Amino acid sequence: MTFDIKIAAVIVGAGSGTRLGGNIPKQYQLIDHECSFAKCIRFFENFPKVSKVLAVVANKHETLFREKCTFSSTTEIVLGGADRISSVKNALVKLSADEPDFVIIHDAARPFLKEELVDTIISKLSSYEGVIPILKISDTVKRLDGPHVEKTVDRSLYGRAQTPQGFKFSSIFKAYKTCKERNQTDDSGFLENMGLTVLHVSGNEDLFKITYEKDMEKARLMTAALSKTRVGIGYDVHQLGEGAGLVLCGIQIPFNKSLIGHSDADVALHALTDALLGAIGMGDIGDHFPPTKEEWSGKSSSTFIEFAVDAIKQKNAKIINADLTLICEKPKISPFKEQMVKRVADLLQVEPCQVNVKATTTEGLGSIGRKEGIAANAIVSVEIPIS
Ligand code: MG
Repeated sequence: MTFDIKIAAVIVGAGSGTRLGGNIPKQYQLIDHECSFAKCIRFFENFPKVSKVLAVVANKHETLFREKCTFSSTTEIVLGGADRISSVKNALVKLSADEPDFVIIHDAARPFLKEELVDTIISKLSSYEGVIPILKISDTVKRLDGPHVEKTVDRSLYGRAQTPQGFKFSSIFKAYKTCKERNQTDDSGFLENMGLTVLHVSGNEDLFKITYEKDMEKARLMTAALSKTRVGIGYDVHQLGEGAGLVLCGIQIPFNKSLIGHSDADVALHALTDALLGAIGMGDIGDHFPPTKEEWSGKSSSTFIEFAVDAIKQKNAKIINADLTLICEKPKISPFKEQMVKRVADLLQVEPCQVNVKATTTEGLGSIGRKEGIAANAIVSVEIPIS
């Protein structure tokens, strides 16, 4: 297969998802720090063979979508219709302006996409009009007649269809344009009705659809199991010198001296930046903000934290907690602790209960004990997905 083949992904998330309960549809409810819809978008945006992603969003949920999902210029929003069929059709019409060769259609409520499966589907599409994942049924299957069992059927003849489903664009577009029935619950059904051959490949149990509360619980447990915890540590010291007042944990503190440094010399935020970078294996503050560069002169150290928090987000990791220790004889830290916790939590975009700030002295020993400077220790833990 050549790489000139153009592949688009359509993520269908225009449903109301009411069976799960809650105030917002299931595809927008947080699994960890991300909802299912956002996970699907991230997957396809990062999938090299897919050049365009269409997110099908209910008209009334466009604001919610923009709030809950991060997306790049690869992704475009398409407004959904009255039902799933109209929603997918809207996306296909949009794609027809610049026809892709293949289209992958996926439900936004199935967050655990597998690269291997999508690769398999794509590889088979040159020979088939449609390729779909199927799960074999291990339970005995019965045909029912109201409250009674009519008979046991041959379960090997049946399978449970999942998404993502892949299609030759021209075939699925034609099928949608000509379809009359409104009860089709997946996309490949339209091809079957046209008499076209749909290939089935092995589905994956992890690709279950979040429908009920128990599915959401399972998704949350799976996400936690698929993450690892990492910690980072940071340490910094700055000298005290002439001046009035200093900045610690982003808070202005009245004092008869100042901390000396290239930036605002916020020793606590420097230690914290190093801890954040350490947890994700990104070196230290000096690697990214060399003190030789004039642009960081007098700069608020919140800039460094914002950079590290952004780097953590880009790795799809999340901060679990941060613990800071300020080491000095003076100024007294306790009156400012609450403000510091709040400021640090804001900078880390976490809740104040995830941040701890404490202070200690060196009992008069050493340079810190002689009030020549202030030191800070920081430790953070992050949860990072296993890739
Ligand atoms: Mg420093």
